[in-house]
Amino acid sequence: MSVRQSFSRVGILPRDLKDLTRGQALWNASVPVVSVVPLLQHREGDPAACLVAPGDVVREGMIIGRAAGPEGAHVHSPVPGTVRELREVFLPDGRRSPAVVIELGGEFDRLGKSVRKYPWENHSQKDLLGIIADKGVVGMESAVPTHLKYTIPKNRRVDLFILNCSECEPYLTANHRLMLEKAPQIVEGARIVAKILDPRRILIAVDKSRKDALDALGQAAKAAEFGAEIATVGSWFPQGDEKQMIRTLTGLEVPSGGEALDVGAVVSNVGTVFAVYEAVALLKPVIEKALTVAGGAIRNPGNLKVRIGTPLTDLVEECGGFVEMPEKIVIGGPMTGSAIFDLSTPVTKNTTGVLFLTSREIRNSRRTNCLRCGRCVEACPMGLDPTNLFKLIDHGAYGEAFGQGLKDCRECGCCAYVCPARIPLVQGLRVGKAVSLERGGAA
Ligand code: SF4
Ligand code: SF4
Repeated sequence: MSVRQSFSRVGILPRDLKDLTRGQALWNASVPVVSVVPLLQHREGDPAACLVAPGDVVREGMIIGRAAGPEGAHVHSPVPGTVRELREVFLPDGRRSPAVVIELGGEFDRLGKSVRKYPWENHSQKDLLGIIADKGVVGMESAVPTHLKYTIPKNRRVDLFILNCSECEPYLTANHRLMLEKAPQIVEGARIVAKILDPRRILIAVDKSRKDALDALGQAAKAAEFGAEIATVGSWFPQGDEKQMIRTLTGLEVPSGGEALDVGAVVSNVGTVFAVYEAVALLKPVIEKALTVAGGAIRNPGNLKVRIGTPLTDLVEECGGFVEMPEKIVIGGPMTGSAIFDLSTPVTKNTTGVLFLTSREIRNSRRTNCLRCGRCVEACPMGLDPTNLFKLIDHGAYGEAFGQGLKDCRECGCCAYVCPARIPLVQGLRVGKAVSLERGGAA
């Protein structure tokens, strides 16, 4: 069954810029000679506790960091080798994390080996959640530990599970390629999630312009006799944001400060559901991921399967080097990603792409004073007043900003994208939100 829907409220329609990589099949990037594996690859809480020391020999997929608390996720060695050192690294979001530096060596346990499927159908919801936690699965964009997201309190139930296939960020196409090349596996991942959540209804939500992905997932769902409906959604940004997706498909508003489960929904993206498939059906920890390398400065843009901990310098080499020096390097998409300045930064579980942008691809015009044009307010999909929140944060009034909706900011970047004064709204709101949350929402 097909359900046709469209985006119902504001947002923007940025140039999609996906043609650079859309037609490029996923390829396996070379295994890094030196991997730098951060122990903080989940959204909140302490880094995983390090289980190895310099000189230790590690195997591919071996646990090297144990979740330090309920909000954490385990970390596994992406390669076989020897621990060279422990060091601190900066993550793309600006946090610092201890990291395990591993020099490649020895035999691979998984690479090039055939793997027997695990009979997950015979296992309980609790067992499946345990496997997902053991294998260190987190949201492949959000970095929220997946076993936590899928642990539903006893007094709640899931009415709707949405497999989010929107991938609305410009440039990024790795999830599109996963849908084309791994549709049966993604559907199996969704079946695993459905077994855990037992939702009343399942929707596979695909951008209406991706007909090939729609067909691939539809056929895979039919072949697996999976009772999911296929829904088409618009190409607006941020259609892929989970609150927007719920509103588009159901008309329900997640309450201010609330979460999807408050309206009975759970939303997971393609990359996460594929990681669930690998964790449960193949008993494979998260040691690699699909991402897009793009931007006008890179010679051979494409979609790659990359080992976690691969330094960006290796990706540049893998993609043929630069045709010109990038003016800006972004991890993630251009709307919600973070600019980075250090090519030794490693790929983490939630790296969706790396963009090497030329001066022609970025807007370099100077920041001016606010023109009070109201475009940021019109563009905000959460109905916030970004310019006012920015001013409050600028004056240190974090509590007031929090009370006026900062807590609901999705950091989608729409306000900054449309601002003619080039005010770095989203950076300001991101910092303000982090400070407010650190202070418990107080001033
Ligand atoms: S205020 Fe937040 S949610 Fe609204 S457009 Fe800006 S970044 Fe997006
Ligand atoms: S879009 Fe920019 S210039 Fe216009 S009101 Fe918002 S902050 Fe001011």
